Amino acid sequence: MPAVVEDISAEIRDLKKKVGATILAHYYQEGEIQELADITGDSLKLAREATKVESPVIVFCGVLFMAETAKMLNPKKKVLLPDPKAGCSLVDSCPPDKLARYQEMLRENGRKFQTVTYINSSAKVKALSDWVVTSGNAEDVVRNMVPAEYEILFVPDQHLGRYLQEVTGRPMILWNGSCMVHEIFSVQDLLKMKKQHPGAKTLAHPECPANVLGHADYVGGTEAMIKYVEGYAEPTTFIVATEPNMLWQLERRTPRHTFLPVPGITCACNKCPHMALNTLEKIRDCLLNGSPEITWQPEFDKAKDVLARSLLNPPATAKVQPAGD
Ligand code: SF4
Repeated sequence: MPAVVEDISAEIRDLKKKVGATILAHYYQEGEIQELADITGDSLKLAREATKVESPVIVFCGVLFMAETAKMLNPKKKVLLPDPKAGCSLVDSCPPDKLARYQEMLRENGRKFQTVTYINSSAKVKALSDWVVTSGNAEDVVRNMVPAEYEILFVPDQHLGRYLQEVTGRPMILWNGSCMVHEIFSVQDLLKMKKQHPGAKTLAHPECPANVLGHADYVGGTEAMIKYVEGYAEPTTFIVATEPNMLWQLERRTPRHTFLPVPGITCACNKCPHMALNTLEKIRDCLLNGSPEITWQPEFDKAKDVLARSLLNPPATAKVQPAGD
């Protein structure tokens, strides 16, 4: 580890103790941030772990919707986000007023539906939803929670929705959103890599388009990918189609394997520019200043109930009134 990184990391560890903070980091953060974190995980794991944190302060190293989720599930805690401009293309693709108008139009046309929303969405969009899902629990919610007599409006990720339609056999009305990182993996490069490494297994995140998923040996979210590679006892090569910082976590957990990232069409590293806004310097500064802080917004009141019902205490039977009804 370079000396500067070591110095700032040591400063962060000291500050963390002083202010009583727990650092949560998404698998798409740089390795040096994941290294520092008390807890690393995908969206579902981090949302659940955030409710068990005992310290008064949470530093959330991820993007805005994730830090908002942590705040909604922990209203009494101070939640800091090192860079408040860390957004997400999926969130941007589903403005809440547009969704509300679309839901209204469906109701006027007599459609009976429930809205299933990917966690990569704004709090206002979550408040308009019946269910909030992550790539880790989406299949379970679609199969077991949405009553069969309802259609499903799935927002905002069309690729995850299409994948869920396929595996569950449940037709869906799909919103036209996508992740700017997973959308642009180069299929041509992927095929070249598969040819160069004939024994390799290909892993792909369900946010990838169907033309990438069609070449994968395994489709799953980041937490599921870890479990999958841990299941291989012998050293194996994996070609990975998800945000490339995930490779740091995969290599740390299973150093016996080799992991190769699939490049993007326009950028060889294909890292998420939003996640990259968080840096060690900003983590140190937010601990020093106690800001930027996620403050409670009016829409959090409704969104937190949908989140809790979907991620923390899913009901045994699917008897939920559709949003807006
Ligand atoms: S990787 Fe995609 S879905 Fe994740 S934060 Fe970045 S833009 Fe959003």
